[in-house]
Amino acid sequence: MAILKTEGLTYQYSVGTPFEKTAVDHVDLEIQDGEFVGLIGHTGSGKSTLIQQFNGLLKPTSGRILLDGQDIWALKKADMRQVRFQVGLVFQYPEYQLFEETVYKDIAFGPRNMGLDEQEIDRRVRQTAQAVGLAPELLEQPPFALSGGQKRRVAIAGVMAMEPRVLILDEPTAGLDPRGRDRILDQLKTYHRSHGGTIILVSHSMEDVARFASKILVMNQGKVFCYDTPEHVFRRSEEIRRLGLSVPQITRVFNALESRGYRFDSQVYTVAYAKDMLLRHLKEKGGDGTC
Ligand code: ADP
Repeated sequence: MAILKTEGLTYQYSVGTPFEKTAVDHVDLEIQDGEFVGLIGHTGSGKSTLIQQFNGLLKPTSGRILLDGQDIWALKKADMRQVRFQVGLVFQYPEYQLFEETVYKDIAFGPRNMGLDEQEIDRRVRQTAQAVGLAPELLEQPPFALSGGQKRRVAIAGVMAMEPRVLILDEPTAGLDPRGRDRILDQLKTYHRSHGGTIILVSHSMEDVARFASKILVMNQGKVFCYDTPEHVFRRSEEIRRLGLSVPQITRVFNALESRGYRFDSQVYTVAYAKDMLLRHLKEKGGDGTC
């Protein structure tokens, strides 16, 4: 069942002015419930505009957006509010939006807005703080006392605490060091496994997307270039590179091996899979599988 569906979704900025710009151009898309989608594309390809339409922040110029089969712009105002709770959006650099006196209050802000009782709010705050690796003693600290990575995780927990069915994150690792980045990505993966919702992760990094996503959506000039499994997307690595996007380093290595006559029965896009593939290949060649 598609949790999100778009039909001819189009968004134009500054309509009727010399600055008119079609940012999202007739996008038809179906995102299945439970998918982990990696959304990738150049700066200006329409990623932010697309995701802001997913939770009703931007109203399409034309076309429809359906959540669970329901056109969100045909809903009453009160129900539209529910859409924002069901499709949670973590903006870029979300830590700039922390404003409460304590981490606890910041994470509790969303659930409180939903009108939940204190006990349920408390459960959610503690559970999501744990999910993003924040120690309980940090909950009573002021957010400004935390490190950059911790603040980012507080902001992510604040959206997770609304328990959205679709969690969208716009470049959640931007500006973090490699450790902070891996930490957030691993936590997202664990959250996805245990929570079972849908995640849409906007990223500049093909490596990250290849490691975590079950589907990859490549945007180019406001249109969907492709939306498929990593395996199928990276089969088109030449075309993707022609768009000026990278493919994972390991895919490039395997493409180079293939151009030298080696044959592999599937597309390689993670290092772990590459290792398995090479060992299998060596065994088939009659070796003992050691390199
Ligand atoms: P991405 O997130 O992939 O970088 P955006 O959705 O931000 O892409 O932008 C898509 C296009 O829309 C770009 O050409 C951008 O310049 C334009 N755009 C984005 N926001 C605005 C705005 N507020 N006003 C006018 N044009 C905009």
